[in-house]
Amino acid sequence: MPVPASAEQPRRQRRDIDPRRLRERMVRGLAARGLADDAVLRAMLAVRRDLFVEEALRCQAYEDIALPIGLGQTISQPSTVARMTALLDVRPGMRVLEVGTGSGYQSAVLAALGCRVFTVERLAELCARAQAVFRQLGLTSIRMRCGDGTLGMPGAAPFERIIVTAGGPEVPRPLIEQLDSPGVLLIPVGKRRREQRLIRICRKGGQVLQEDLGPAVFVDLVGSHGW
Ligand code: SAH
Repeated sequence: MPVPASAEQPRRQRRDIDPRRLRERMVRGLAARGLADDAVLRAMLAVRRDLFVEEALRCQAYEDIALPIGLGQTISQPSTVARMTALLDVRPGMRVLEVGTGSGYQSAVLAALGCRVFTVERLAELCARAQAVFRQLGLTSIRMRCGDGTLGMPGAAPFERIIVTAGGPEVPRPLIEQLDSPGVLLIPVGKRRREQRLIRICRKGGQVLQEDLGPAVFVDLVGSHGW
């Protein structure tokens, strides 16, 4: 009986096959739900989400679910990344600060959109893992720092866009101060844990406009201006 070709391949080679078909299906699903614009969908089609989750969970990487990445943290679900990225309204060359690198997936999507990404993560182990994936994917333009992102990244400010992927009780003042004009800041805020509202702050000229974009559920933003 002939042996199927895949069974003859060494394990390592099989594991490295890019599951592009699954990504195409994921992106079609996001598009059908009207969750993102074309540029965001193209970026999500380009970035291998399976490389940002641990090996045992890779078969679930293209389902629309948040997955554990260790240390009590999660990689946000694709629909959340799609929506947040679309709301951020980025253009190539923009300076974007992300607070809460986690797996690094959101940073990679922003980099695929041509942004100059600055990202901060408080947990050293997650920093090291994200850095390794960035290197593997050749995403050398992403600047990462390990530390308290509620303080922003003063040395690299101002930022045209700021995205916070963890929820705290208030909008950290340093982030508002480091927001460029014009600029957009997106952050989940809530007085109760895991129960936030997604807030968008737009700065233009001397004006700061704040909008409530509805309910959101994110892990804790822990730090000087967080929990
Ligand atoms: N954007 C991530 C989602 C990660 S979950 C992704 O695409 O995978 C949120 C992350 O925020 C967690 O990794 C958590 O450790 C981190 N975090 C929480 N408070 C933080 C703070 N003050 N500064 C930096 N990172 C923080």
